[in-house]
Amino acid sequence: MIRVGVAGAAGRMGTTACTAVDAAPDMELAGRADPATGVLLASILGDCDVVIDFTQPDAALGNARECVAAGVHIVIGTTGFDLAELDSLSGANIFAAPNFAIGAVLMMRFAAEAARHMQAAEIIERHHDRKLDAPSGTAARTAELMARASGRAAPPIHSVRLPGLVAHQEVILGDVGQTLTIRHDSLERESFMPGVLLAVRRVGSLERSPTVGLEALLFAQP
Ligand code: NAP
Repeated sequence: MIRVGVAGAAGRMGTTACTAVDAAPDMELAGRADPATGVLLASILGDCDVVIDFTQPDAALGNARECVAAGVHIVIGTTGFDLAELDSLSGANIFAAPNFAIGAVLMMRFAAEAARHMQAAEIIERHHDRKLDAPSGTAARTAELMARASGRAAPPIHSVRLPGLVAHQEVILGDVGQTLTIRHDSLERESFMPGVLLAVRRVGSLERSPTVGLEALLFAQP
């Protein structure tokens, strides 16, 4: 049994993650940390093999530091902070993904491939109005992968925040007389959970830490 703690357990993603961990046959929900319940991350680390972090941009890095210092692996879903800051941390493994939905990972992969062949692109990302960061981590990661694949500047990102939305992204590519649109929609937060549980199962045996992006666990790397 993998003993799993959840940081941000009272939040939207944290609540969904607690339910998913509870239902996983090979995992035990070992602790829920959140300011709303007054339970500090430090107080649950002794009971955990892995912590899942779905908190806020200003909390995730400190939480990662605390986990690895205690020898506890961490799976980070929180977006909006500089992932490069994780590079200096050691003591346990770190896995971070701006998007845990398989469809979004495929969208990023297809967008990077398309960027090699078409002249220009722009990204439109739409999220619920309580999302703290803009642009989204997924859009920033998509733009980075497209720039790397095409050798051109990263495409511009347009952010929309409205009630009723969950997480949606369109990558629109343009060339002479044609456009190509690659679109992904997360319609409910459960869409992220298979990816989160996969990361929890794999974080302890990563060859490299930090590892960023679910694609590193799903596809053979070049
Ligand atoms: P949310 O509902 O605001 O939940 C965040 C929770 O974290 C809140 O309950 C907050 O408590 C708590 N928190 C803040 N600081 C903390 C700390 N130091 N230790 C423990 N808990 C702390 O936000 P959400 O919608 O669940 O999103 C959480 C993060 O996940 C965001 O960065 C979002 O962009 C990201 N996200 C990632 C994915 C992915 O696939 N990677 C998918 C969806 C969302 P208070 O409210 O009391 O401060």
